[in-house]
Amino acid sequence: KLFVGAQYTPSVERTLAMIKPDAVKNGSVDSIVEKIEAAGFVVVARKNQQLSAAQAAEFYAEHEAKPFFGGLTTFMTSGPVVALLLEKPDAIKDWRALMGPTNTEKARAEAPESLRALFGTDGTMNATHGSDSFISAAREAAFWFSGDLIKERTLAMIKPIISET
Ligand code: UDP
Repeated sequence: KLFVGAQYTPSVERTLAMIKPDAVKNGSVDSIVEKIEAAGFVVVARKNQQLSAAQAAEFYAEHEAKPFFGGLTTFMTSGPVVALLLEKPDAIKDWRALMGPTNTEKARAEAPESLRALFGTDGTMNATHGSDSFISAAREAAFWFSGDLIKERTLAMIKPIISET
């Protein structure tokens, strides 16, 4: 009998990264992208954009009630950002690990080779963003990139199987 089906391979993932205004301003974009590729990520799509206040508030809506929300959105609109759609097995978890802890000082102490340790400034200006879950990766990827790229992401995780049974 011939079996035709599909196997879900959740390890192949896409995640949404941003290079934040501090790192764009101080000329670190190329160095950061080099490190991203050296760590095995494929940059599937890339966009340079200045966020409006409304866009920054929408992107960070989950933090609306936090005391740092105002400072965060002011920072995120202080200059252009670079959004990157990254693909790799375990992209979501591995990108968070490559970035390091949120606070730059903590990153320097605990993960000195991480991107935030190397390129961040402080607890708000920390050089990079990364989705923290599958759900936020899907939402944030859709915020930045078109439906086709999002659809491909799903298709990339489905491996066709044709086998004799
Ligand atoms: N942030 C801040 N003060 C804080 C915590 C966070 O300014 O006390 C900023 C920082 O830029 C961080 C972003 O808000 O990257 C989102 O915070 P989150 O806790 O989600 O950290 P992340 O997922 O970026 O590591």
